[in-house]
Amino acid sequence: MFERIERVPGDAILGLIEAYQQDSNPQKVDLGVGVYRDDQGRTPVLATVKKAEEQLCQNEATKSYIGSHGDSRYTEAVTRMVVGEDSATLKAGRISTTQTPGGTGALRLAADFLKAHLPNRAIWLSDPTWPNHPAIFDAAGIEVKRYPYVNADNRLDFEAMLAALKEVPEGDIVLLHACCHNPTGFDLSEDQWHEILEVVKSRGLLPLIDFAYQGFGDGLDQDAFGVRLFVEALDEMLITTSCSKNFGLYRERTGSLMVLAADSEQMQNVRTQVAIAARENYSTPPSHGAAVVAEILSSQTLTEQWKQELADMRGRINGLRSDFVAAFRPHGLEERFAFIAEQRGMFSYTGLSQEQVKRLRDEFSIYMVGSGRANIAGLSEESLDYVARAIATVVK
Ligand code: PMP
Repeated sequence: MFERIERVPGDAILGLIEAYQQDSNPQKVDLGVGVYRDDQGRTPVLATVKKAEEQLCQNEATKSYIGSHGDSRYTEAVTRMVVGEDSATLKAGRISTTQTPGGTGALRLAADFLKAHLPNRAIWLSDPTWPNHPAIFDAAGIEVKRYPYVNADNRLDFEAMLAALKEVPEGDIVLLHACCHNPTGFDLSEDQWHEILEVVKSRGLLPLIDFAYQGFGDGLDQDAFGVRLFVEALDEMLITTSCSKNFGLYRERTGSLMVLAADSEQMQNVRTQVAIAARENYSTPPSHGAAVVAEILSSQTLTEQWKQELADMRGRINGLRSDFVAAFRPHGLEERFAFIAEQRGMFSYTGLSQEQVKRLRDEFSIYMVGSGRANIAGLSEESLDYVARAIATVVK
């Protein structure tokens, strides 16, 4: 029965990891994979996560199931972190939060919920976006459409984005990246968030904001600007979150889906349906990562320490961004690459062509994805000059 099943090529990023591992050049640099790296190229377990795990190890009393919505200590703490302590929408009991297996699980849960209850609506994604976005919504049977996001000069094309959103049919879903846009690194300004909100309101669109990098851009509160603006202004929207990056919990699969409804009654109705979608997918979420986050966020001391660890990761990335631009100075390319210091999050759309990316890999052992997306956290103070020189060679 399986003889007709075709083999598909492996994931491009996994292929890149393999090629990097086999490369014997001591100067090799990996700018491909989407995880945070410290200056030694490691992705360490945060010290606060280790402490929380020790406490859990002492105190955890059962491995029995948690409910479909997960651990309420976690969901309540994460909701406050996302919408802010003073959110009127939160106080009005209009937000349902469900713990999910990572941000990916949150997106799939959102997709299944939307497909079941709001059928025949398309979802609009930025072009480009994280490749798993179209894959997830397509797999759930939702039609995927695109709005422009960057122009040919590799800059945010806000005018084109806004114009396209003004044409989206009423009731369709629009996916926005809260901050640290993956793959481009180009984020919306506060004014631009206001303008998008006006279009969402006037066209009656349903926003889904993907918040996978809270704290990796400018700060926990700063990065939430767009999310909080929408949460206080709209009756209905969805938010997906992830603790993969900001708590470094990647493999523990820790995320959440928040659904906002017009009043607490409707929120409770929605909540019962989200639980059904979860049960049909994976029944109940994995416990460990969320328990770690709950442990950290319920202790003032651990929270302060974690905020410092997060600030260190953010500071390293933003420091590398400006140092990288400076490294282009001797090559007369500082202005050309100045945008790298303005982008936010781990990723930078460098504007390099596929051919240039290939040359970087073949001639300099510098690995990045074909689209020209570079993981800035893959750089180090040591490799900056080497990478800038290599890029200068391939763009000349
Ligand atoms: N959304 C975006 C934009 C992402 O980049 C990622 C992870 N790379 C996710 C969601 C999902 O993250 P995870 O499933 O690892 O929590």
